[in-house]
Amino acid sequence: MTQEIIDIDVKIKLNKENVMSMLDCSSDNPVYDEVSQCYEQRLEWLYHHVKPRVLLSYEPVNDDLKEYLNPGEGCTGFLYAVLTIGGAPQEESRRCFGQGEYLDGMLVDAMADAYLFALENAAMPRIRKFCAGNRTGILRRMEAPQDFPLEFHKHIYEMCQLEQTMDMKLSSGCMFDPVKTSCIVFVQSADPDLFNAQHDCSRCSVKDCPLRSI
Ligand code: SF4
Repeated sequence: MTQEIIDIDVKIKLNKENVMSMLDCSSDNPVYDEVSQCYEQRLEWLYHHVKPRVLLSYEPVNDDLKEYLNPGEGCTGFLYAVLTIGGAPQEESRRCFGQGEYLDGMLVDAMADAYLFALENAAMPRIRKFCAGNRTGILRRMEAPQDFPLEFHKHIYEMCQLEQTMDMKLSSGCMFDPVKTSCIVFVQSADPDLFNAQHDCSRCSVKDCPLRSI
């Protein structure tokens, strides 16, 4: 098994309009200025408190995995990517809601989601390098629950020893803690020139995703 943990040190810049659209707050919204001001106040806090980390781990294909994940023709293995920004944003968001600071709570939560999304782009060169090191390419990406059951997170959690390596937990419902974590299964191919690693919004069931682009 090849495994690598990467502390992402490139500066990730948040896209304000992505956050605004996550909050369904367009520029003609009467509260846009108030939300925008709150965003600016929260930005430095977020940059200082996120801990962007990515774990990459390769598992060769076998009959059980093939039957369970149904990866399609040409699959040679699986690259598990676990991306997290740590637990501070969720704690801060909870604290804000607890104190009745609802706008701050919602904003911190949406900013954390946008940061996690941006982390994936920042991690792409490392994912490409990891594949190159294994002489593999990427046939497609899969995520729970649309491509495989959430229960498969348990396999990834145990195989990658996420408690020890990433200080993570898994709930009885197979959700990760910190909640601002995403888990992607990249189906590996023997063709190193293939790199179908990006979001495929046309196949995604998250119809109301504000970052949807088709
Ligand atoms: S709609 Fe697109 S961007 Fe949003 S989660 Fe689905 S694949 Fe990702």
